[in-house]
Amino acid sequence: MDSTDESVETKATTRSASEGASARTASAPTTRAEFLERARSYAESVAIDVDTDSVEWELSERAKRRAGVCLFDRQSESVTIRLTWAAYEEYGWKEFTEVIRHELVHAWEFQHFGESTHGERFQAKAAELDVPRHCRSFSDARLVLRCTDPACSWRADRHRASESVTDPEQRRCGACRGRYVVEHVDTGIRWRTNEGYEDARERIGDDW
Ligand SMILES: [Zn+2]
Ligand SMILES: [Zn+2]
Repeated sequence: MDSTDESVETKATTRSASEGASARTASAPTTRAEFLERARSYAESVAIDVDTDSVEWELSERAKRRAGVCLFDRQSESVTIRLTWAAYEEYGWKEFTEVIRHELVHAWEFQHFGESTHGERFQAKAAELDVPRHCRSFSDARLVLRCTDPACSWRADRHRASESVTDPEQRRCGACRGRYVVEHVDTGIRWRTNEGYEDARERIGDDW
């Protein structure tokens, strides 16, 4: 978890607004609290064997590219679905329900199999629920370069696998000339060398 304060705050708001939100099911949610509450109740209506009572719902204000993500804590076996507010604002409620169904398929895999990918099992379940295999991205940057020096805040977006992405050792941070790390935004997979890139590319596969 990268933002404990944010999630605690979000949950508190959701609880206090839950009664009002469930009474207004016809219109699209307009506040963050309504949105999370609607997502939660929508999830309960989806025909998939997910224990929705044990799923934690969170909002991301920071995600750049993903509309949603499903996280699994291997120790507690708890599932968290984190939805991106900016993506909801762009898509609207109806289209965003696809994102929720997509993340529910991940939750289903985590709860029943302890792992989740976009493999055959995922695709078969997703097809049952009329879920797109990939969540549509709502911004362009596929990759981000970040300086490895914690004192340096340099970062740069990259769209394609240019040399700065495929062979980071040949280049330097644009601010301090130090080393940088490349991150594939959708998967969070990182690398610092050409070997690391080749390995990452293989692991990312179709999700590139
Ligand atoms: Zn997914
Ligand atoms: Zn730097």
